Amino acid sequence: MIKTCSFLGTCLTLWSMIPGIPPRAWAQIDTSALRHNLNVVRRVMPDMQLMAIVKAEAYGHGLEGVARALDDEGCAFYGVATVHEADRIRQAGCQTCPFILGPCFPDEREPIVQNGWRTALSSLEEANHFNSLGQLYNKQVHTHICIDTGMGRSGFLPNELQGLMEKLRAFPYLHLEGIFSHLSAASVDLTFTHQQIQSFTNGVQELSRSQAFDYRHICSSSAVFNYHVPVSNMVRLGRLLYGYSPMPSPYNKELRPTMTLLSRVTIVRTLPGNHGVSYNHCYITQGSTKVATIGIGFADGYLHYLSNKNSRVYVHGQYCPVLGRVTMDQIMVDVTYLKEEIQPGDIVEIMGPNVSWIELTDRANTIPSNVLTSIGSRVQRVYV
Ligand SMILES: *Cc1c(COP(=O)(O)O)cnc(C)c1O
Repeated sequence: MIKTCSFLGTCLTLWSMIPGIPPRAWAQIDTSALRHNLNVVRRVMPDMQLMAIVKAEAYGHGLEGVARALDDEGCAFYGVATVHEADRIRQAGCQTCPFILGPCFPDEREPIVQNGWRTALSSLEEANHFNSLGQLYNKQVHTHICIDTGMGRSGFLPNELQGLMEKLRAFPYLHLEGIFSHLSAASVDLTFTHQQIQSFTNGVQELSRSQAFDYRHICSSSAVFNYHVPVSNMVRLGRLLYGYSPMPSPYNKELRPTMTLLSRVTIVRTLPGNHGVSYNHCYITQGSTKVATIGIGFADGYLHYLSNKNSRVYVHGQYCPVLGRVTMDQIMVDVTYLKEEIQPGDIVEIMGPNVSWIELTDRANTIPSNVLTSIGSRVQRVYV
């Protein structure tokens, strides 16, 4: 029998839905929350097209699961990092077109052209190669011109834009579908961000003298609610889609968390006082201490940076501190003061309604995306 407190009741039901031997750690993905978060943005800016960013296993939520869940939501594109991710979206049977956000290796370009995936254009070398592949397969290659307005990662520099359209016109198989850029400090440097937006606006105006572009985009999660970019007509949603807005805004409280990370107690023991817990004995018991070992570690994404950082888990309606170092597959927590009895198999909330994604981010002294993208492949994703 598995004992659980009431809020975990649905988790328990879900857990029993996982076929085979139950996992030690699993992530419950709330697909209605994903749709809800998209629709918050849609309501606030009804004329904006949306690109849902699903790279890196959809920020740890599982690529196929999220891509399927959002496929009917009318997103213009799915943002991915690699051709391999694009191909997994195709194999999952999704209709939404993948957009590869950064530069591609020459040998990645052929599948892009064959499948009609969208890609960024940062150089004339890429333009030339894409054009020959387009000719080879007799297909238009849909690309978005990337402008480096200050990120320093890829794109044409603003001073390279004059005369660019004339050069690109030599490539008849290129369909120049969009223009985009990426902000480098939207949540910390408003002045520089406004400069980037101005540079993007100038770039769009310069390039649009030759032709109209269907998509113009620069804002991702940290800018969506906080900067107004009249020339743009699409936003790219990563963290925001998964419930976190990096900037203060009146809409943040409407966003819903999309993942609950759960694990189970493997054993409960009572250690005497002055007994070391975990590697290097960074924690030593004061007195007799009831310690529960939990089946999740840094290989599952419970970051090693959370060692000795006063992180906590939630079990039977109470918080319990994590003791000492996080190990690869297990953590130890102090359950001495739990009011309810605890036993092996009991479900523990690692991250979710009571232990927020941002709490773990702060304790680990990292950034939110790092927490989610670290969740390992051993953690089973369950979609609700
Ligand atoms: C990853 C990425 C995003 C998503 O960023 P968030 O801040 O998570 O919204 C948007 N645009 C580009 C180009 C990216 O690489």
